[in-house]
Amino acid sequence: MENKKADRRLRDAIRGCLFGGAVGDALGYPAEFMREKEITAEYGPDGITAYERDPLARKAVISDDTQMTLFTANGLLVWETERSAASPRQYVARAYRDWLMTQESSLRAVQASERNTAKGGYSWLLDVPELYHRRAPGITCLSALGDSEYYDDYVKEKVNQSKGCGGIMRVAPIALDHHIGGIEEVDMEGAQAAAVTHGHSLGYMTSAVLVHIIHRIVYPPEGTQMTLEEIVREARDTAAKIFAGDPGLLKMSQVIEIALEQARKSREKESTREEDLNNIHRIGEGWVAEETLGISLYCALRHQDDFSAAMIAAVNHRGDSDSTGAVTGNILGALLGYEAIDEKWKKELELADVILEMADDLYLAAGTQEKEPYHTRAWKKKYVEMRRYEK
Ligand SMILES: [Mg+2]
Repeated sequence: MENKKADRRLRDAIRGCLFGGAVGDALGYPAEFMREKEITAEYGPDGITAYERDPLARKAVISDDTQMTLFTANGLLVWETERSAASPRQYVARAYRDWLMTQESSLRAVQASERNTAKGGYSWLLDVPELYHRRAPGITCLSALGDSEYYDDYVKEKVNQSKGCGGIMRVAPIALDHHIGGIEEVDMEGAQAAAVTHGHSLGYMTSAVLVHIIHRIVYPPEGTQMTLEEIVREARDTAAKIFAGDPGLLKMSQVIEIALEQARKSREKESTREEDLNNIHRIGEGWVAEETLGISLYCALRHQDDFSAAMIAAVNHRGDSDSTGAVTGNILGALLGYEAIDEKWKKELELADVILEMADDLYLAAGTQEKEPYHTRAWKKKYVEMRRYEK
């Protein structure tokens, strides 16, 4: 009975993390390139508080943040299935090339090519037509993936000097995996997955911090009950240990401190949208990864018991609204769970079924329940043949 309850909680947390990220991404996407005055002129004094439907898709559409997050999960699940001695990052890096195909090629061309060959095709997501849309993909991601080198250690190789938020916005699934190893190995794998495209230390250390936080929320160490604040501090301190001597650590630590401090102060009183906005401005705009982390931590800490309030705070600013929305949604979705997410965010979200399917596969691969998923027809189709499974 206890186990069943724990399994239900785990499934809910994993779904919440992936789905929550997609909610923030879809809510923020229309405002990604809007100034604050433009946002209020368009949506009213409270800013964006509900999805804007895309006229063609007739749904709130997800952007590159969620697309790439799904590919991170797909790569990870192929790694899980093969039980390979290679690191997850190798599989995730291959899956990102598959994502690149959705941005540069057509469904028809990709479906005509073989799967699982040296040329690519390692993801069943390639069979999902809705993913073949360019939704303001990051230039750094496109160019870094266009260069076809694979490395064993992306943190060491440094593919470029970018610290844009294209890494941190997509790595949450690394935190949901149960077989990578101890917490420091999880953190390092999160950093490596970001470093596939972002070589500046702030571009990947921030991902280590994010996956640490989500992993601790989803898999709390036995017998402990940490607050979100305690988890954030532990994540920061662990990164300082793993990356000791890195000159970017000071900046990252300052940003985390502002988020913790301002969220604490704002929680002590009835704070307003104005105050959230001022606190976000203290951190930055979220185009670079340490600001994305800082803004997301602020919104998650400040509104830790109210998913909708956190989402609205995270997207209504002049910066990179979809990415700060996505990362805030990953954290709070994991913390509060999918069931706690308001119905209004569940209706009309593009690819909601695929997002939940991927979340449930991550849950099954976590292997806490009695049955292993690896021998079912659906699983083999998706993670051995790399094709979409349709009942
Ligand atoms: Mg985006």
